[in-house]
Amino acid sequence: MESLRESARFESADGTVRMLMALHDGKQVESVFIPERMRDTVCISSQVGCAVDCQFCMTAKMGLERNLSAKEIAGQVGHVIAKWKLVMRERPFNVVMMGQGEPLLNLDAVLEATAMMMDQKGMSVAPRRISLSTSGIIPKIEELGRAEKRPRLAVSLNASHQEQREKIMPITKKWRLDDLIRVCKEFPLKKGERILFEYVMLDGVNDTLEDARRVVELLRGMDATVNLIAWNAAPGIDFKRPEDAKVAAFQAVVQAAMPCYQRKPRGRDISAACGQLKLVALEGSPALLAR
Ligand code: SF4
Repeated sequence: MESLRESARFESADGTVRMLMALHDGKQVESVFIPERMRDTVCISSQVGCAVDCQFCMTAKMGLERNLSAKEIAGQVGHVIAKWKLVMRERPFNVVMMGQGEPLLNLDAVLEATAMMMDQKGMSVAPRRISLSTSGIIPKIEELGRAEKRPRLAVSLNASHQEQREKIMPITKKWRLDDLIRVCKEFPLKKGERILFEYVMLDGVNDTLEDARRVVELLRGMDATVNLIAWNAAPGIDFKRPEDAKVAAFQAVVQAAMPCYQRKPRGRDISAACGQLKLVALEGSPALLAR
């Protein structure tokens, strides 16, 4: 299965492990294993770099180098399963395509990889445990909804109105927020399924109570869950992390209308947290374990 090999590993004080995976052509991507008390999470990449220019994201600085093949995407999960001896039936784990890349810009390979992961004779990952996160490529969300076997949908929302979203996610100029909300409302959900909306909170940019109220209005009527991620500092990116009290106040407003959680920052010391995956950030890491 593996068409890639672990070339370096970095371990966080909180147990999160970030792996550099070398590909056959010398390029590298990153995968992250996040152990938790109840269930573990494997975060994988779908592209080398990314063409979507989210202003808060380290990966964006790489640009897009190439798509990963289905084998390279599923192979990251196969690698983690083998290393940590994960068995879905004994201790469920989640697979999230939230590493490098915009999965919907490599949708054919992502769907093929999803089928490989679900294969009962192979990795046997439960379908409801695989999800992908998109910046909001509207026609591709519709295409995903038509797929027979597909990952769950997570949307990187990060703003409460069009103008604000354009500033931090320029792709919104092409794929507008109102259209994004419309396709999410029309997305065919399975029984018990919800769409996860991720919201990276940037101090002074998108973190007011007004923003929280607008988010509630945008998502009203949807089976939505909101995941708040207080900005993780990354070198060369000029945003600040909001204070905990601000994040809590925002959460309280959204939570009154729909499930809303704060994502615990994991692996911050090894640049493995959200928006921090970029190869150069590994240089000088104090936690190099293997090569
Ligand atoms: S947040 Fe995701 S879609 Fe946006 S630039 Fe980073 S990797 Fe690409």
